[in-house]
Amino acid sequence: MGAMLNTRAVGAARLGASSVRFSVGRIAHRVRPLVATLARRRHAIASASNDPPEVAVLGGGAAGLTAAYFAAKEGARVTVYERTSEAGKKILMSGGARCNVLPVAGSAADFVTESTPRLLKNVLASWNVERCREWLEDDVGLALGIEHVTNKYFPLSNSSREVRDKLLQACVSEGVKVRYGASVESLRRTDEGWALRIRDASEENVPVVVLAMGGLSFPAVGTDGTGYAIARRDLNHVLNEPYPALVPLTGAHPGGEMMPGVSVDVSLECETVAVGDEKSKKKKKKSKASREGFLFTHRGYSGPSVLDLSHNVVRPLARLAREGGASERDDEKSVDGTTPLPSLVVNWSGESREMWQTRLTAPPGKALVATRLRDALPQRLADALLVEGGIDNTCKVADLRKENRLKLLDALTRYTIPVDGHQGYRKAEVTGGGVALDEIDTKSMQSLASPGVFFCGEVCDVFGRIGGFNFLWAWTSGRLAGMSAARKVLDGTRTVA
Ligand SMILES: Cc1cc2nc3c(=O)[nH]c(=O)nc-3n(C[C@H](O)[C@H](O)[C@H](O)COP(=O)(O)OP(=O)(O)OC[C@H]3O[C@@H](n4cnc5c(N)ncnc54)[C@H](O)[C@@H]3O)c2cc1C
Repeated sequence: MGAMLNTRAVGAARLGASSVRFSVGRIAHRVRPLVATLARRRHAIASASNDPPEVAVLGGGAAGLTAAYFAAKEGARVTVYERTSEAGKKILMSGGARCNVLPVAGSAADFVTESTPRLLKNVLASWNVERCREWLEDDVGLALGIEHVTNKYFPLSNSSREVRDKLLQACVSEGVKVRYGASVESLRRTDEGWALRIRDASEENVPVVVLAMGGLSFPAVGTDGTGYAIARRDLNHVLNEPYPALVPLTGAHPGGEMMPGVSVDVSLECETVAVGDEKSKKKKKKSKASREGFLFTHRGYSGPSVLDLSHNVVRPLARLAREGGASERDDEKSVDGTTPLPSLVVNWSGESREMWQTRLTAPPGKALVATRLRDALPQRLADALLVEGGIDNTCKVADLRKENRLKLLDALTRYTIPVDGHQGYRKAEVTGGGVALDEIDTKSMQSLASPGVFFCGEVCDVFGRIGGFNFLWAWTSGRLAGMSAARKVLDGTRTVA
């Protein structure tokens, strides 16, 4: 579908109440660059030389580039070490190559973490969507618009390449150096800071490090979990176990016939039953419902509603697999059939049971039940649900027996998706779990276990739902880590207010 971008809405947002509310912050926003200019002058000559970096940013993705930009803006000499031949590959592939750079609004409720929720709020409070948008527009130079219906920010160009290129250019303009093909394999503490061991190169010493190596998802573009390995082995961090998140699920389709490509707006919710407690089945706990796109795939289910709730099924599955000896890099898990897992329960049209009851009994009695379903649902799905209800597609409304009607009502409004696994890191948009926020000073993103190392982006135990929230996390945590790292090396341990 072509983009429907509303530039007026952007302008309106600029002039709206939020700009008044944040006016004090905006003054600070304008003054800070002047302060930074002084610091930059101090380093201008050195930046142009081959002096070693003061801040080493490990990983040139969205979070790493943002950290590098803000560290350089503070006046530090910054080098990004990127293991592949290109920075920001995930930016390029994001949002269907259009790059959904931000949501229109966000709060902690849009994110998932197993760390203490207050710590996530601390990081999010260090910036906000509006300031972040201003940065992307005014400093990075991207013209953004809001897409109708979805309320997401995209570049007006609809080009993720423009996002990547302009972000990289903004970094270079601030004096950031980027070294490609520089795969950092380990860190070692030294008296002056940290020694980087780089594959096929000699060791390098740097005062402070920003670790922005991403997670395990989409390993084909350079992310294989090295950041986690370094955090565990070299930095004494305990991880919240990583697992694939925002990932398509596998399983049979209704009616026993696969229908890839069929998409429908549904109401989906997750019901959790306490493991091992049969009696508690009556007390099903519902997790956040999602009412958005649902897509049947060749192997199961995808679409924003499924991806957003997938972690509820995948996380316990990954935990069980690990207990059984699987490694965190193991792909595509499947259920053995006896494992009690949270269930995803779907209402295919989002309408109430009462509404369907009326629709299935309203005159004329000679109308086909199949037609009543096809009026509200894609035909293939309607036919599959008739099969689920044990109803022939020539059955008339007047001939629909009560027991079949009740079965059909269940299939229409409370259908439990028979999930038997997921498609693993190869298809997961992000990684859940990671470096726990509880082991990070969230005022600066500095490691509590290994001072002088700052974390940002997907390597941390945070991911957001579909809708630009993962870039919001990358920009926000990247900025905080980059500024803090620069301030630490330039003038002690001052944190970012
Ligand atoms: C298909 C897809 C679509 C997406 N669409 C959206 C979207 O529209 N909106 C949204 O908000 N989010 C989206 N996301 C999620 C978003 O892309 C990520 O959350 C975000 O890019 C994470 O940024 P990061 O910098 O933390 O990690 P990454 O982008 O993974 O960057 C990590 C970088 O570190 C490098 N690296 C790794 N190990 C080393 C090493 N040892 N030495 C040196 N360098 C190393 C990697 O090569 C990589 O460049 C999407 C993700 C995918 C996969």
